[in-house]
Amino acid sequence: MKRTVVAGSARIEYTLIQTVRNSVLFQTLPEGVIRVYAPKWMRLRDIDQMVRERAGQLLEMGRSVDRRLDEDRRNHPVTDGSTTLIEGVPHIIRLKKGLQSGGIVEAGELRLSLPEPESDPAVRGVIRAVLSARALERIRERVDHYAPLIGVRPGRIAIREQKTRWGSCSSKGNLNFNWKLIMAPKEVLDYVVIHELCHLHEFNHSPRFWALVQHQMPDYIAWKKWLDNHKEDLYL
Ligand SMILES: [Zn+2]
Repeated sequence: MKRTVVAGSARIEYTLIQTVRNSVLFQTLPEGVIRVYAPKWMRLRDIDQMVRERAGQLLEMGRSVDRRLDEDRRNHPVTDGSTTLIEGVPHIIRLKKGLQSGGIVEAGELRLSLPEPESDPAVRGVIRAVLSARALERIRERVDHYAPLIGVRPGRIAIREQKTRWGSCSSKGNLNFNWKLIMAPKEVLDYVVIHELCHLHEFNHSPRFWALVQHQMPDYIAWKKWLDNHKEDLYL
């Protein structure tokens, strides 16, 4: 369950996971993602209050996770021979100097050409562009496949660099998707597409909503879990 609290000038979004446990656990993940594991019996406003009291600390923990990641990126630049996940499969990155930036996915490789193959930010920028384009193409195709089956007509489809979300749906029926979904197995991308399309019927996470999702994808729980467990693997 996503929740938001305001503490002073900070707005904190967190995911609440209610489990059979006796204490509250706070977890900070890259890019400002905060998870809170709390006992089922605890009242929501008490949990919100605990988050509010720890706001400064949680934000600082998040920043230090991001600093470590940045450092890790600097220490492990993307070079010829590095790998990245595409549709759940590790692909070897091939770098070549070229006048224009671009790339293709072919034979288990992500082949990139760019003017500055030695610049890590430039390489990451091209990877992001190539994979975002591929994500948009694939997502459009899956939306076209599932929308008639679910009986909905979505509006605009867009790819976003979303930090904490895989997909979202506006009240006007426009859908946004995170480009990093192209790194996940095809079933995971399908699950997120189905999830957002089903929101055009049910703008909530009620049992009726989940029944619609399950109707389209009987094993959706496994792919939803995959996404929860592999968040850290889907990053650039
Ligand atoms: Zn949803």
